[in-house]
Amino acid sequence: MRREEDIRRTLREISQSLSRFNSRLTELENRLNQNSSLIMEERKIPDFQGSLGGRSFSTNRSGGIEKVIRIPVCDVCGEALAERFSICKNCGKKLCSNCAIHFSGQKVCLDCLKQQLPLSKRSFKVLLALANGMESLREISQIVQVKREDVEECLEELQSLELIGEKGLSIFSRIYVADKGLEAISAYTKVFEGEADVRMLKDKLGWGFENG
Ligand SMILES: [Zn+2]
Ligand SMILES: [Zn+2]
Repeated sequence: MRREEDIRRTLREISQSLSRFNSRLTELENRLNQNSSLIMEERKIPDFQGSLGGRSFSTNRSGGIEKVIRIPVCDVCGEALAERFSICKNCGKKLCSNCAIHFSGQKVCLDCLKQQLPLSKRSFKVLLALANGMESLREISQIVQVKREDVEECLEELQSLELIGEKGLSIFSRIYVADKGLEAISAYTKVFEGEADVRMLKDKLGWGFENG
């Protein structure tokens, strides 16, 4: 527990010196503003990856003082971040609401989702059909529009990822979608729902995606 206390104390110290630094900056800013002979220009630029934004001062070419405001942006798509944003639990990237994917009770980025659960679009579609109660290879093959052999391949992929399982004995066994499979559907829906073939399948299945 000593370690935890040390970390907590260090964090407190960092936050104290940051707020001291911030008030010094504000002070400097006020002084610069009072001095009307100095023209203050403001320039907004996107901040580096992993950085939470900030401001700094520099002299511009005409000798005036320029205030540079670094705006925190989404590390995936580059959109300016709103006040509330997510951090990928795996790699620490800052994520806007469009790029944050909910998986297994955590927010992750697309790269980390793919790393943790590499699911092809084809298998995602087969999984959707299964979750919708389809069982026969023929039926699934028709609605997903992939060959029967390919459906079998997808089933193997889904089984090896533990997204589906088999209940019952031998020829009476039935495939079921595991909890992890349902989580995969909700995570990958956000990834694939914009694509035409997935939307078409969704319509055919009468599957209501959360976002319409
Ligand atoms: Zn984004
Ligand atoms: Zn990530």
